[in-house]
Amino acid sequence: MQTTLKSSVTFIGVGLHSGAPVEMTVHAASAGHGIWFRRSDVTAVDAMVPARWDAVNPTPLCTKIENADGTVVSTIEHIMAALVGCGVSNALIEINGAEVPIMDGSSAEFVRGLLGKGVLTLSYDGWALRILKTVEVQTDTGWARFEPARSLSIDFAIDFEDAAIGSQSKSLNMANGTFVRELCNSRTFCRNSDVEAMYAQGLAKGGTLENAVVVDGDRVLSPGGLRHSDEAVRHKMLDALGDLSLAGAPILGRYTGARAGHTMTNALLRALFADPTAYEIVECDASINANLPGAGVTRSEIPAAH
Ligand SMILES: [Zn+2]
Repeated sequence: MQTTLKSSVTFIGVGLHSGAPVEMTVHAASAGHGIWFRRSDVTAVDAMVPARWDAVNPTPLCTKIENADGTVVSTIEHIMAALVGCGVSNALIEINGAEVPIMDGSSAEFVRGLLGKGVLTLSYDGWALRILKTVEVQTDTGWARFEPARSLSIDFAIDFEDAAIGSQSKSLNMANGTFVRELCNSRTFCRNSDVEAMYAQGLAKGGTLENAVVVDGDRVLSPGGLRHSDEAVRHKMLDALGDLSLAGAPILGRYTGARAGHTMTNALLRALFADPTAYEIVECDASINANLPGAGVTRSEIPAAH
């Protein structure tokens, strides 16, 4: 069934890259609405931006969407992962700036906020996107692939020089709250050696050791260390779930990413939608509904605050 939020929830913070203070409120929306952002600070042109794969303006380090008037919202991946992970399929997200607040660098505060309000089931059937054949994209640095499967699973592998990250891989079926239990509190991360380069590009202005895990060689510079020994690959899976939600319907299939990122996951969605024989849209029956990422997630699974 389609869903939305029982009541609105507000998040206040700063943008990771812009450093700008921002307030964001997730409102309920009717069946068939999907997920849209509305820039409340934009009045002269169209302020509505769809959270959809074909609105993505590929950019390094985050997922940015843009409408035909050039209105943008960036770093949407962590709230998008929280919405799909909590089973919210319709929402209007009002935001008074161009970048989603980074909160603690993970999706945990969004999940706490959404589940705290509760998910409302609407009396309309939902639709899912079933992968029918293998679709793959690759670059010199990595690759990403879809394969047929009964429900969504995410496999991810990363490989970093810094020993504090190193080589990590993980595979999880996303059915029944796996995101909330296993992934939602894993934070974004970066190498200390990349921080100066990001500053030079005008990025990471809102980054701190509290909202990003910063590593230097074999050391974790962020106070308190890691939340999971493999927090980095878990965060990449969180990002992948958020980026995959831009398909516009839950995906029934296996996603594998190797040294992939936001741009590559979006390229994979574009490759999928370019081949009409690679997928089909199916009405969600009871067995599909029971295996969606947000199925069965309740307030009892709200992650503890760190
Ligand atoms: Zn991320």
